[in-house]
Amino acid sequence: MKVSAEVVKGQCPTCEEHTMLVGLTNEIYRCMNCGSDLQQHVNGKITYLPVMTSPVDGATPFVKEWKDG
Ligand SMILES: [Zn+2]
Repeated sequence: MKVSAEVVKGQCPTCEEHTMLVGLTNEIYRCMNCGSDLQQHVNGKITYLPVMTSPVDGATPFVKEWKDG
């Protein structure tokens, strides 16, 4: 399986620098200048928004222990 990070040039909304953005997923990019995670929004033009890293619904992911019976 080939894993390669996509690197694009864009303007970071956090530090407002035109810099390199490294793709973490299809739509999440990380600013190489300030390290902020950005979400790519494609709607006519590509914009980047800061990613809020708060847990969904206040839930914290955890590993559940499996039990039989
Ligand atoms: Zn930045």
